[in-house]
Amino acid sequence: MEKKNKIAVFPGDGIGVEVVREAVKVLDALAEKTGAGFALAYGLVGGAAYDACGDPFPAESLELALTSDVVLLGAVGGPKWEGLDYSVRPERALLGLREKLNLFANLRPVNVYDELIEASPLKAEIVRGIDILIIRELTGDLYFGQPRGVRVENGRRVGINTLVYTEEEIRRIARVAFAAAQQRRKRLLSVDKANVLESTQLWRDVVTEEGRAYPDVELRHMYVDNCAMQLVSHPAQFDVIVTTNMFGDILSDEAAMITGSIGMLPSASLGERGGMYEPIHGSAPDIAGRDLANPLATILSVAMMLHHSLGMPGEAEMVETAVRQVLRDGYRTKDIHHEGAILVGTAAMGDAVAARLLP
Ligand code: NAD
Repeated sequence: MEKKNKIAVFPGDGIGVEVVREAVKVLDALAEKTGAGFALAYGLVGGAAYDACGDPFPAESLELALTSDVVLLGAVGGPKWEGLDYSVRPERALLGLREKLNLFANLRPVNVYDELIEASPLKAEIVRGIDILIIRELTGDLYFGQPRGVRVENGRRVGINTLVYTEEEIRRIARVAFAAAQQRRKRLLSVDKANVLESTQLWRDVVTEEGRAYPDVELRHMYVDNCAMQLVSHPAQFDVIVTTNMFGDILSDEAAMITGSIGMLPSASLGERGGMYEPIHGSAPDIAGRDLANPLATILSVAMMLHHSLGMPGEAEMVETAVRQVLRDGYRTKDIHHEGAILVGTAAMGDAVAARLLP
């Protein structure tokens, strides 16, 4: 019998619901074209889950994620839930999924499509041909280190966070990065602040040690401040970039903006098994429910899922080709629209991609 790939689908909040609907449309079209089997099971996370049961990450959703091959997520959050205690904020679901699925590597490809080059805030000659994969460590660094918090010492407040990385944490993300570089142009840049931070000198040392097992990959190191500059001055030089949780958080958003629209960028979070796939954008309450959201980031996240977790690189390429085709044919959602292009809404964009997959 045909193997069914079990996908836990968490649309979440705001435009998450709209863009996931289009991604599912594309999966359905792919199944129809290739005969691939997908078993989709829906769950609640984020504000939607809080509204339903008072918990942004209910036990049933965790169970669903743990018993599925992969997770497809829309986005969580919105003004409605901003006043809630941190323990029940929608974002807890994201952190919970990362933690429980042990997702330690976040992959963000940054490509500039020729058709969208004018959408970039940078000059066309600078961004043409950009094809970067940013790999961000996801479970360590200042975001999780102890001690943390704000306390009062000698009558004044002191804020503390701790930057901590173990050798094992660095090694496992380095391996993901070297392996990814081997599949691409075989150039890896490791970004740190080793001139000031001892913890990132360890990062540099361990990445260098791991590199000995990948003699075909050219490894370079760069300080994060320099990398931030180079990303806007000479972005085309980069192939794979691997970096710490916080530097990756900031650099990947900077890189995203180079492409012109947040609505185009997919991401994958990988662990020992499975993975979670989601667009990099949030729930966009300002445009939610109005058929304005660009679903391509989520559709491209499905392509990453097919490639990285479901062992279907051919199908992944079909989806990517369909997206490129739709852009070439002139279809644009509002965020990437320009004069002369065909303005479409969220659902019509999903239809257009699905139509190019069908025989
Ligand atoms: P956002 O990414 O939701 O939106 C930023 C801007 O980009 C908005 O103007 C929005 O309209 C636009 N935008 C985003 N995605 C788009 C798309 N697909 N098509 C067209 N335009 C798009 O970020 P924000 O406004 O800072 O956050 C809104 C909410 O989302 C907050 O509650 C935040 O916490 C949450 N958030 C969630 C995630 C996630 O679920 N992974 C990530 C970031 C933010």
